[in-house]
Amino acid sequence: MSLIAEEIITFSSVLKMAYNLLTGREYLKRKKFREKKKLVGVSLAFSDLAFAAGAVPVFPIRMHTFEISKYLAYLGSASSIFGWKNVSSFLSFVKNLGISEISKIVDGIIEDVIDTINKKYNEMYDLGIENGISSDFCYGLKSLVGAHISKGRNLDACLNVTIRCSAYNKYMESLKIINQDPKQIWVDIPPRNIGNALEIITDNVSNAIRELENLTGNTITDNQLREHFKISNQVKKSYKTIIYDISASDFYPCNPATFSEILALLSLTFQDYNSNSIRYRDNLISLVDEMRERIRKGIGMDVSKMPRIFVTPIFGGWEPKTHDIIYELGGRAIYADWEVIKFSEEIPVANHLNPVEEYARFLLNATVSGIGCDNDTLTDSYLRVAKKLNADGLIFFQLFGCHSISNCYTMLREKVRRELEIPTTAITFNKIGENIEQMKTRLGAFMEMFK
Ligand code: SF4
Repeated sequence: MSLIAEEIITFSSVLKMAYNLLTGREYLKRKKFREKKKLVGVSLAFSDLAFAAGAVPVFPIRMHTFEISKYLAYLGSASSIFGWKNVSSFLSFVKNLGISEISKIVDGIIEDVIDTINKKYNEMYDLGIENGISSDFCYGLKSLVGAHISKGRNLDACLNVTIRCSAYNKYMESLKIINQDPKQIWVDIPPRNIGNALEIITDNVSNAIRELENLTGNTITDNQLREHFKISNQVKKSYKTIIYDISASDFYPCNPATFSEILALLSLTFQDYNSNSIRYRDNLISLVDEMRERIRKGIGMDVSKMPRIFVTPIFGGWEPKTHDIIYELGGRAIYADWEVIKFSEEIPVANHLNPVEEYARFLLNATVSGIGCDNDTLTDSYLRVAKKLNADGLIFFQLFGCHSISNCYTMLREKVRRELEIPTTAITFNKIGENIEQMKTRLGAFMEMFK
């Protein structure tokens, strides 16, 4: 892990993103109590309307205190005096001096970020189980329920956008029982594009906007919607640049395990943009610049001989050791979930277009051709991204308890075999840290196919 920490530390934008992720609780408290902002619980990547309303979207786990953040908190204070870029250079400098104590701290930072988040995920999962959660729920849903049980009362509202997964919709239904105070704001999406689906979603988005206006006391104008969509479009553009342009390159700005770690961090933070869309957008733009700059200077690693392994889906839960194991076995893992389920599509913002309808169209498009109305559509989407990534292999995570996405693997394997002719395998997943040895054996056999 030390190699990962060493390399990641030279990306100040990653450091900042990790800091913003882990120190969310303090940030959110400030927003809620000092600035009197409304906190709106979101999951997947449905934060847009809350941002446009001037509320603060939050992926519930971020309301927790993360014990390990003291070093990052220290760096955060240092950054307010010296700036993040200088903090990052300072860390690299100290690291190169080889002062063991400081070096250990530096090494620990990023490792701790990932470990802390995973520990918290597992804690939330256990809490969900203790509270008698349905066994039909996947890891992600169990952890989300745990997060709402422990901290959901701090929310002013939950923004619930329905998707194809009945368990996910059931989870959102259960929120009103877990905590009575937060207002439940719904955006229903018809499961299929039948006849007037766009009209129905547009109406439902308009109703949600009205409810958010009542909650915040702010009026959401068309221009405010467009302004937010412009920001989220820039986020999506940078995300795609990293997923497609940089990950396709034969030279990486860091070692591939670090690169995967950054992709995993992006996947997690994409859900609520760390509660601040402008800061997140700026961070992502800097990340792309930092990556390009390192590639231009030849800092990083030649990965031309390492097969590209597309690992998906991870948003419902996956084993975070996967990319380390794949790296040790000579490959590079790429995560690109938001692209598969089409949450990274840009929303048109031209003045002559109705932004409410454009947002409805975005939701419909994600339903129809991304996350999919059915397994045929969804598997096509996996194939589309695998092709675009020029993947050499595909690893599919089958989640215990998932009856919606996980059961498309047989169809996916068949399509991959027929159309892409690349190796594929499925890995079953229940909880982080369980069955790592078994997974290593499985990945070992899979990676043999590239030798
Ligand atoms: S992983 Fe499966 S069960 Fe969990 S939210 Fe996604 S589709 Fe639903």
